[in-house]
Amino acid sequence: MIEILFLLLPFAFYSGWKTARNRYSNNQKKQRELSGHFVKGVNYLLNEEPDKALEVFLNYPDIDEYTAETYQLLGNLFRNRGEVDRALRVHQNLIARPNIKQKQKQKAMFSLGQDFFAAGMLDRAESVFQELLNDNNLSKNIQKTTVCSSLRTIYEQTKEWEKAIETSNCSNKLLDKGTTENQTNEKSLIAHYYCELADEALDRGALHEVDLLMNKAKKIHKKSTRLMCLAGDIAYHQQEHQKALNNYLTAIKQDSRLLSMLFTKIEDSAKKVTGIQALQNTLLKLFKKNKDSTIFEHILLLAVKNNDTSSELNKLIRDELSSRKISVESIQSASEYLKQNLGDINSQESLSLINTSLKNYLKDTPTFRCMHCGYKMHDFLWRCPACHHWDTIDHI
Ligand SMILES: [Zn+2]
Repeated sequence: MIEILFLLLPFAFYSGWKTARNRYSNNQKKQRELSGHFVKGVNYLLNEEPDKALEVFLNYPDIDEYTAETYQLLGNLFRNRGEVDRALRVHQNLIARPNIKQKQKQKAMFSLGQDFFAAGMLDRAESVFQELLNDNNLSKNIQKTTVCSSLRTIYEQTKEWEKAIETSNCSNKLLDKGTTENQTNEKSLIAHYYCELADEALDRGALHEVDLLMNKAKKIHKKSTRLMCLAGDIAYHQQEHQKALNNYLTAIKQDSRLLSMLFTKIEDSAKKVTGIQALQNTLLKLFKKNKDSTIFEHILLLAVKNNDTSSELNKLIRDELSSRKISVESIQSASEYLKQNLGDINSQESLSLINTSLKNYLKDTPTFRCMHCGYKMHDFLWRCPACHHWDTIDHI
């Protein structure tokens, strides 16, 4: 795609140059000069000699508001092709031009920040984005929230969580009049940053600091599941198993994907306080509510470990395996359960149930994948419909 855009660049240059030519229609000499520069630069681009093209365009005498957009595009395309040095030269040259408008200069500044970021020069990217953020006359073309987001990406990379929080707070204020969905997203990010700081404090053993940070996170995003997991971990390590269990179970009620990550600790805490059967009942109740495959898988794991043969469980296994698509991990857990002949399901029925569940699983699952682009498909094809490469399709 980027290559196609790059090939289209000469046309973009043509339109910029045409506008410039029209303005100089009364000045034949100037028109000839511009035309010569343009043709030379485009020829170099078409001949894949980007450095020579760059020299011509950077020495182009008349970049102004009409041609600046095209230069902006040229720089961005160089960056997207991974040629960051060239992108930097184009955007720096653009900023230094005296006769372009302020809003175009700001746009080039933003691109320059992105170039620095792509080149790994994070401190320079940071100072460019900070300068834009502090600019009270920033053009409407550049959203301050977008600048905040770029800054935040830098701080996430450098693990400067306090600065990331500060930037998100700034973005949140700017979003005050915006959508609540974006604000919720910002708040959830801030909670993550506080949790990162709390993790660091926990590693240092600074428990008082951990408490303070968690309270701050709670204030900004009360329902953060990460916060609940962290509170659970702290209680677990302090042997407060009831508290740990409560926090973990609240977290998985909100997001059952977390169960795999927390299962060992949940099982251990449950053994010490409520007992495994109570945990099994909680999971069964939760599964009836959300039908999440992860929970079904762990219900079976617990059943195998504890020789649970209740008729409720056997009914659940029959229903799930025969009627709907469940994850391959759940099928594996079910086969473990059935293998041990724990309930009233005989081996003939077990085999038939596993067979049906595998059929359900495979029915909508693509069996082939393009080795070039990763596109998945149900049938073998000689040519990938996504990337159009030949002979790249293989079994998953
Ligand atoms: Zn492909």
